Amino acid sequence: MTGNAPPQLRIPYVIAHADEGAPQPLRFARRPLGGLRLTYRNPRRSDVIHGVLRARVMNHRRGAPQWRKLNTLRQWLCMERTLCQVCGLEATDPATGRIPWITTATAFRDIPDVPNSGYTSAPATCRACIPESLSMCPQLHVSSAVYTVARSEPAAVLADMFTPGAGGLAVHTGEHNVLVGLNEPALLRRALATQLIVQIHDLQPAPHLAG
Ligand SMILES: [Zn+2]
Repeated sequence: MTGNAPPQLRIPYVIAHADEGAPQPLRFARRPLGGLRLTYRNPRRSDVIHGVLRARVMNHRRGAPQWRKLNTLRQWLCMERTLCQVCGLEATDPATGRIPWITTATAFRDIPDVPNSGYTSAPATCRACIPESLSMCPQLHVSSAVYTVARSEPAAVLADMFTPGAGGLAVHTGEHNVLVGLNEPALLRRALATQLIVQIHDLQPAPHLAG
């Protein structure tokens, strides 16, 4: 258990580091079926996931930690593989088959029509890392609660939005962190996704995991 470790000892897996920035040579290109979509000038197959262009970042954890910023690639991996945002290992509790999840007011949104469900941009946290993770919350000025969930699935992205300029130029609209559903193809074509949002199902309070 790591509950007594000073929180400054470990930098969470998901946190961005200063030297992980990558060039963003963006443009708009004509699609085979008509219309324009945002792309990189040197496209790679791995750029487009769930129908949206994902922002390129490095993944070497060099440079100073940027405590309020998540590394796009590691955040995405955490969401798709249910990895712990602190240690980067599988977050599912093998004893129960359920996934421990810390929700914070800033990263969680209720779904009014679907009880015990919600959207979140913060990945899961494994049991062992929960006390350490909770000890960071006051420093980050966020309130939090511990739940377990039955499963999660990709539902939306947070994205910077672009509009086509002259000659295929990609012009940033000034919009950051726009929530775009994976069922909104017209918006997805103008979005540069920086975080994957999942829907979490069957939330149950788990205060006993808080330490
Ligand atoms: Zn962990």
